[in-house]
Amino acid sequence: MTAHSSRVLPRVPMPLPDNIAAPEQAGPVLARFEAVHKTYDERNWVVDNLDLNIHQGEFLSLLGPSGSGKTTTLMMLAGFDAPDRGRILMDGQDISKLPAYKRDMGVVFQSYALFPHMSVAENVAFPLNLRKVPATESRTRVTEALALARLEGFEDRNPGQLSGGQQQRVALARALVYRPRILLMDEPLGALDKALRGHMQLELKAIHKQLGITFVYVTHDQDEAMTMSDRVAVFNEGKIAQIDRPETIYNRPSTRFVANFLGETNVLEGTLVGLNGTHAQILLTEDGSIHEAPCADREMVVGHPAALAIRPENLRMALPGEAAVQACVVDSIFHGAHCKLRLRMAKGCELSMTYNPGSLGRASPQPGESVSLALPCAQAMILR
Ligand code: ADP
Ligand code: MG
Repeated sequence: MTAHSSRVLPRVPMPLPDNIAAPEQAGPVLARFEAVHKTYDERNWVVDNLDLNIHQGEFLSLLGPSGSGKTTTLMMLAGFDAPDRGRILMDGQDISKLPAYKRDMGVVFQSYALFPHMSVAENVAFPLNLRKVPATESRTRVTEALALARLEGFEDRNPGQLSGGQQQRVALARALVYRPRILLMDEPLGALDKALRGHMQLELKAIHKQLGITFVYVTHDQDEAMTMSDRVAVFNEGKIAQIDRPETIYNRPSTRFVANFLGETNVLEGTLVGLNGTHAQILLTEDGSIHEAPCADREMVVGHPAALAIRPENLRMALPGEAAVQACVVDSIFHGAHCKLRLRMAKGCELSMTYNPGSLGRASPQPGESVSLALPCAQAMILR
């Protein structure tokens, strides 16, 4: 069956064109990367012409695979590393040459980096002692920070007597005790088990809300980034592939890399046959059908290869007469809260579809059965 490109299609909001899309209800810009470059070997940019605005009060995650430049970006913001080109601003002032201790930022690393010979309270008080905060004020602040990190009663223990999760809470209390304007975290939950990570993610989100300060959080874990963040910047090879709210990054990926990095996605290969502003038409290699979907990529060229990406939960059974693609059910799997179909199109393109049992309006398709699938325009994307 061939769908026609002349269908009347709903217009959906598109991602903003550049990578400095402001979050909704964003505060003013607090920190800013301007054309920042970093190389360690004089040959490859590990951070490659990075422009980034960090807004007052937001929870921004830097998400990407290992080696994509997240830590280097965070270290330049913290002042532990310097850009080779470009500059970093805070409140509009160039801080590229300002030493780390003058930047008013707290840092939490994956390795807790606690002082083993000091008690919990002494560890947390350390930044205040460095800043020569008077003893009475220091005690009050340490008590507050320990309460925030839920460490009351642990004041006199040594780090060696604490679990990994508790040690990371100490590191968090120590980073927050001098009330920095930005809290920087580099995979802080990386060493914890899954259940504890999930718990700590919710706590960090609550602490962010309570304090109202800016959080910049590095992770390679997409679920973690989606759970906590106001905005996610997806890093690939030293560049931001996309920056936006988690829902937009997930539902409206702007590149194949982003689509594939954030969970499972169906990718149908084809050729670009039309472009009209916010939308594009693709001719699928698999069955010659034509589909229209949003397209955010300004460099797409008619006649060039393209792909239609659609999440498994956005595929659905086609209504009679609706534009559809045909696929054969390979496997039907019951997962409790949802069911999953693995499907194959005639020339071998594999698809997966998830649905809620009961929402299908018919019995679950069985292996060997042929089904018609709609590719809803509003939930699909055309990518290069
Ligand atoms: P991520 O945090 O995303 O995993 P990094 O910023 O740590 O990425 O690293 C980006 C690239 O820079 C990687 O290829 C890494 O090997 C390299 N790199 C990072 N730090 C150094 C360093 N101090 N010296 C040399 N190369 C480095
Ligand atoms: Mg890293």
